Amino acid sequence: MKKKDFVTLIMSTVGGILFALGMCMALLPEWGAMMPGIVLGVMGAVILLAMVLAFATVDSQGNPQVRNISAIHYEPDAFYFFTARGKAFCRELLQDGRVQILGYTRYKEMIRLSAKAVPVPPEEQQKWMDIIFAEQPYLANVYPGDTREIGMVFAIRDGAMEYFHLGVRPIFRESYAIGNGAPAPKGYRITDACIGCGACAQKCPQGCITPGQPFAIQPEHCLHCGSCYESCPVQAIERMGTL
Ligand code: SF4
Ligand code: SF4
Repeated sequence: MKKKDFVTLIMSTVGGILFALGMCMALLPEWGAMMPGIVLGVMGAVILLAMVLAFATVDSQGNPQVRNISAIHYEPDAFYFFTARGKAFCRELLQDGRVQILGYTRYKEMIRLSAKAVPVPPEEQQKWMDIIFAEQPYLANVYPGDTREIGMVFAIRDGAMEYFHLGVRPIFRESYAIGNGAPAPKGYRITDACIGCGACAQKCPQGCITPGQPFAIQPEHCLHCGSCYESCPVQAIERMGTL
């Protein structure tokens, strides 16, 4: 077996085990370990996905730009990725730095990271570049020898991660702060204007609205579909954030 195939096999196995263990912890209430389970599951899914992630930026004209990046190295508190200084991607990162990274697993999970990418300090560039090239042997084919010096390594430490699992019922979602990042509020909220008619609960595809005064949405099971919002006769449901 080639070294890179072996590494892929190990990464897939480790990612699968972490993911499975995390999902058991998160979804089995008797284990009482939902939060650590989610974090572990997300880590496993990220490792499973580690081969390619989609990175979105905004260019100088305000147009969305998205591309797949696989030259990535993961650390517990940050991840590092490589691009070439001449690429528009690199210029967009240097000008703005905001990036959204999206992955999707075969288990119908979406993981999205909204973050700020910063170039690693000049004295650390070589170190992280060497690590990324050692982990991704194909890069030596793309940038052989010292041609890799056209590259630049960026790091992401702070951001907000959203996890969205459509493969369970009810669906499950959660947001997490990474480093100094903070998740933006999203979704819907029922206000005190609720008259308790129950129309929203009947229209909710996930059954995640519970009776009360006012009725309440379980945000961890909400699709953000807006059906409740449209069905409320007294406009007692508010949108949150930029949804
Ligand atoms: S947005 Fe959709 S899923 Fe969420 S509570 Fe309203 S109807 Fe249910
Ligand atoms: S539809 Fe509006 S008023 Fe009726 S229970 Fe839902 S939030 Fe309350």
